[in-house]
Amino acid sequence: MLIQIAEGVLVHQSSFMQTNAVVVQGRAGVLLIDAGVRGDEMTCLANDLRELGQTVVAGFSTHPHWDHLLWHASLGTAPRYGTARCAATVRDRLPDAAAKARVAGLIPPDIVEQVPLDLLGLITGLPADTARIPWDGPQVRIVEHQAHAPGHASLLIEERGVLVAGDMLSDVLIPLLDLNGTADPIEDHLAALRLIEGAAGDVDVVVPGHGSVGGADQVRARIDQDRAYLLALLDADVLSDPRLGPSAAFGDWLPGVHKRQLQHLARGRDRDGTP
Ligand SMILES: [Zn+2]
Repeated sequence: MLIQIAEGVLVHQSSFMQTNAVVVQGRAGVLLIDAGVRGDEMTCLANDLRELGQTVVAGFSTHPHWDHLLWHASLGTAPRYGTARCAATVRDRLPDAAAKARVAGLIPPDIVEQVPLDLLGLITGLPADTARIPWDGPQVRIVEHQAHAPGHASLLIEERGVLVAGDMLSDVLIPLLDLNGTADPIEDHLAALRLIEGAAGDVDVVVPGHGSVGGADQVRARIDQDRAYLLALLDADVLSDPRLGPSAAFGDWLPGVHKRQLQHLARGRDRDGTP
């Protein structure tokens, strides 16, 4: 089911990890951001679009994680984009069919059969520092940063007052650090929050990659909440984050991820001698 969140901007949410696909209406069709996860859900989205008389004219993946790189044949053959670093990472990590089998190993067993991998990661990298997604519709500004995954981009649709955050600013997930390939993942993530705050601190609606769509007050609240989590990690402080509570949406596994992030950072401190 497509839900309108702003004029000409709609969201289709997956039952898998509250993953949000975002549809932006353009002049000759729609831009589809992070298409979805399960095959039947993407088919449902394609049907909803058909009923609205819309076709997909462009796609965009916010970052190179499998759940943001999927596509379904029913959505058509529009060009699909990502940042240059996102596309380069996909090329590195998904060079061949064997890599797809490895991806299948990352998908929870209860849904792996329902996730179509044929069109996984078929994106074109936009030249580095491209400011906007090339398409015929409202301007979509690319706010690229170094956090969560290489080449991660949040997208700002200024005319509609909408921030499509990618895997940032979730109400159900703590900041998931990019622990590979960056020397200072916490400072990188803090810098990304500053960048987003500067570019999109006054939007009306924020759509996270996973979780619920938030209003204007939520943009500030989620930036603050993520910053508090990161600063607590930095100081190895005691943390009370509602997203890690036993009754939280992902309270059964997220505390384990938090623990691994803490351990990884502690190992880094041991290595370089910082207190
Ligand atoms: Zn991700």
